[in-house]
Amino acid sequence: MTVVTLKPKEDIRIRRGHPWIYDNEIARVEGEPEPGDEVEVRDARGLVVGYAFFNPNSKIRARVYSRTAKHADEEFFVRAFEAAHAWRRLCFGEKPMSLRFVYGEADSVPGLIVDGFVGEPLHEDDNEGDKPPIAQQAAQSDSKGLWLSVQFLSLGVEVRKATIVGVLQKLFNPKGIVERSDAPVRALEGLPESTGLLWGSVPTRVLMEENGALFEIDIASGQKTGWFLDQRANRRAAARYAAGRRVLDMFCNQGGFSILAAKAGAASVLSVDSSTEALELLRRNAVHNGVVDTITTVEANAFDYLRDLEKMGQRFGLIILDPPAFAKNRASLEGARRGYKELNLRAMRLLERGGVLVTCSCSHWVSPQIFDAVLADAAFDSNRRLRLLEERTQDLDHPIVVGYDESRYLKCRIVQVL
Ligand code: SAH
Repeated sequence: MTVVTLKPKEDIRIRRGHPWIYDNEIARVEGEPEPGDEVEVRDARGLVVGYAFFNPNSKIRARVYSRTAKHADEEFFVRAFEAAHAWRRLCFGEKPMSLRFVYGEADSVPGLIVDGFVGEPLHEDDNEGDKPPIAQQAAQSDSKGLWLSVQFLSLGVEVRKATIVGVLQKLFNPKGIVERSDAPVRALEGLPESTGLLWGSVPTRVLMEENGALFEIDIASGQKTGWFLDQRANRRAAARYAAGRRVLDMFCNQGGFSILAAKAGAASVLSVDSSTEALELLRRNAVHNGVVDTITTVEANAFDYLRDLEKMGQRFGLIILDPPAFAKNRASLEGARRGYKELNLRAMRLLERGGVLVTCSCSHWVSPQIFDAVLADAAFDSNRRLRLLEERTQDLDHPIVVGYDESRYLKCRIVQVL
């Protein structure tokens, strides 16, 4: 096995939990490992630090998958997926539910994301003519199943795709596995985007349950893997403040927050997103949950629309802000900070006294400290006082590894605006 020797002290960050070895941290590589090969990582004194996937075309030259297991073979993936699954059963119970099955480095499989969706299959023409509503059809069908939506975001897992798909199939027995490697980060690994069916079949839509509500999702072409599983617990938390209030759900996507707020007794819910497809699904989700009369959808740019709402003199009792990651790298951090500040400032102005703001940032570049400082600045500029009700992060199927800050990406603050 090829040996990669680190420069002095470069092993410390790795031993403290960070799995990435950058090109400039390596003293020497013995031999010529093939792209994606397993390599043994040693510190400057020659002691083994761990085993990693090698990528000569990436700044992240090696990604550690284990401290002790030499080979990332079939048995390795079986063990890793079983361990990941055992953890989720502990957190969420035995009953099958939609979950992130594997969360990359945080589950010791660098670059591999596996989202599992449990629900009923729905097909293109299910909702046409005078057929019963889809939810009713689904309740009558016995074809409940599991579908996996997978992203291969590192070369190491890309070259082992066949083994990984085989193990996923055997362990979890899904009805279909679809690839959603249409993520820009693939380019940093020297990989083109790639999508399509990897195994079995995948229906046009899956009707799944989350937080006791029904959601129709599009695994093959919805955003990311089809659904944002990381916000599950935060949606529940936000809904606790919804009863009787006028709710504004900015960046609503398919309505994870909106539907729950409506079900919790919101007086009205205004759901805003720039994506036509997401809003179309949201409206269908409103039908499935019997909350059509409560929800209004608006297709708009969030920044413009917040300004319009202010001009119209609108006021809300609960506002949810869940924007996409504004900072994709260090260079865009300053611009991102300004973006978050503006959004939060405008939202605070739109809240009635005592109103609640649920505000999120999913960019790991924006640290919890930076995000909290942005909120404090926005409160100062809008001349409001904030009472911090809840400091939250991603749900437990997206575990956080200490020493690997990239895994600690989602900030969700629930504040009351006085
Ligand atoms: N809150 C959602 C997830 C939001 S993901 C949930 O609970 O599932 C971010 C969303 O922001 C996406 O749906 C995307 O379409 C939308 N978006 C991105 N840029 C936007 C903009 N400038 N204005 C409005 N929506 C935007």
